[in-house]
Amino acid sequence: MRIVTASEMYAIDRYTTEQIGISEDSLMENAGQAVARVLCERIQPAARIAVLTGTGNNGGDGFVVARVLKSYGYMTDLWLIPPKEKVKGAAKKALEIYENSGDEVKNYIGNEQEFFEQIHRYDVLIDAMLGIGVKGSIKSPYKEIIDKVNQIDELTVYAVDVPSGVPADGGEVETAIRADVTITIQCPKLSAYTFPTADYYGELIVVDIGIPPRALETTATFRQAWVEEDVRRTLPTRNRSSHKGTYGKGIVIGGSRNMTGAITLTAKAALRSGAGLLTMAIPDDIYSVVANRIPEAMQHPCPSENGSFAGDIDFAQLDIDAIAVGPGMGRTEGTKRIVQTVLEQDVPVVLDADALFFWNEYASFVKKRTSPTIVTPHPGELARMLGVSIHDVEKNRFGVSKQFAMDYGLYVVLKGPYTIVTTPDGKQYVNTTGNPALAKGGSGDVLTGIIVAFLMQHDSVQAAVSNAVWVHGKAADFLVQKGHSPFSVLATDVIDAISPVLFQLRE
Ligand code: ADP
Ligand code: ADP
Ligand code: MG
Repeated sequence: MRIVTASEMYAIDRYTTEQIGISEDSLMENAGQAVARVLCERIQPAARIAVLTGTGNNGGDGFVVARVLKSYGYMTDLWLIPPKEKVKGAAKKALEIYENSGDEVKNYIGNEQEFFEQIHRYDVLIDAMLGIGVKGSIKSPYKEIIDKVNQIDELTVYAVDVPSGVPADGGEVETAIRADVTITIQCPKLSAYTFPTADYYGELIVVDIGIPPRALETTATFRQAWVEEDVRRTLPTRNRSSHKGTYGKGIVIGGSRNMTGAITLTAKAALRSGAGLLTMAIPDDIYSVVANRIPEAMQHPCPSENGSFAGDIDFAQLDIDAIAVGPGMGRTEGTKRIVQTVLEQDVPVVLDADALFFWNEYASFVKKRTSPTIVTPHPGELARMLGVSIHDVEKNRFGVSKQFAMDYGLYVVLKGPYTIVTTPDGKQYVNTTGNPALAKGGSGDVLTGIIVAFLMQHDSVQAAVSNAVWVHGKAADFLVQKGHSPFSVLATDVIDAISPVLFQLRE
């Protein structure tokens, strides 16, 4: 499922009409019909519905929706917010069809008082006022209407394409509809996956209006949502004839005297995610604490000083298919040396947490690598690595992570709600699972373990990383669905939920 900016969507529409030859009128009819079908599944037959429309394409979709809902027998009022003369193009045609069908238009202009009285009496409001063409701050009368609608708690609000006032490409929001459900046409827009805009969407439903794949593929930027179907398609199977060697030998490196838990979580998550053989490289100071926590893992104690790594790791002794380094490692000269040595190994490497700290001193090592390198920063870590503010990262998560991935030839996992996985050639995959149960120390360490295990079992690095992020989020979703409170879920619980999630994927 492609995720697009407003200008990419306009380009797709243009290609569809000009090069493929599907008319704007047909697209609008398809869009309205598709939205109406979703609405019919969800709205009670006795509901009183108001469809609020603007003048542009979004309004045009609204005219079709209102006509279809009426034809199904729903009590529907169509409110046209701007003066009728302003309705142009395909929307004008859709309005004519609506009127030719014998349906009445209620004009907001001249009946403002009636509108504000009646709005309380509806059960359902369908917002087709402003779409992806919105520019600048929202002007009157939309502003008053949006503020009013947001105040009425009893109204169930469905937005068509984007909630009115939400910029399609994301950014700050002054005035916008807070929808319960947003029914998006063909491609989700960027702002559905960035904050604060995503909060205005409510539940996101995407409807296909028959734009051919050829038109969708014309966008220069490759950006898509990674969904269950993608995971099912790319997750490897475990063959009857396989053995532990089939699934790879991994090593996780980390831990220090005051942080013994992080690397334990990483190791355990890797084992729960199918790693064939797993070694934990830890400072020998904490060996006795860590070793007896996971009987399934092997240990590689390393020289330490003050509870942290002091020497190097001799990889020549170890037969390794993938490495994860960083969780709970601390930030010392010793850890710096270890990360640099890790980067010299010709296997896939995951850098997380403290392994991202001395980034400037790793950059030249990273650029020399020929095996895949995966970094898993949260926005704070990425900001520090780039020497910019967290706000700079947050306001342009897609752009910043893409630039970073391409500059260094990395796979970048920018964590948070809607984690973005970017490949070295700039393709972006947005995760659709996860919830605030994960907003707790240790969640990231678990993710690192899943990633390293999946790297050993997938051919495609992108699929390994995207699937790991998906499974991690899904494990948290599974726990919440089973009645665990997001307050209480621990990183350990997330590890335990990996098993049922993987089981369900193979059902
Ligand atoms: P869409 O209906 O999908 O947004 P259009 O570009 O066809 O796309 O229509 C945009 C409409 O919204 C135009 O009629 C324009 O006048 C109106 N509009 C755009 N920005 C604002 C704004 N900030 N406040 C009020 N109306 C706006
Ligand atoms: P730690 O280093 O303490 O383990 P990180 O910040 O590195 O934690 O990682 C946190 C993990 O939890 C990331 O995978 C992130 O995407 C996820 N996460 C955190 N908050 C949320 C949220 N509100 N919704 C979804 N996922 C979240
Ligand atoms: Mg972390």
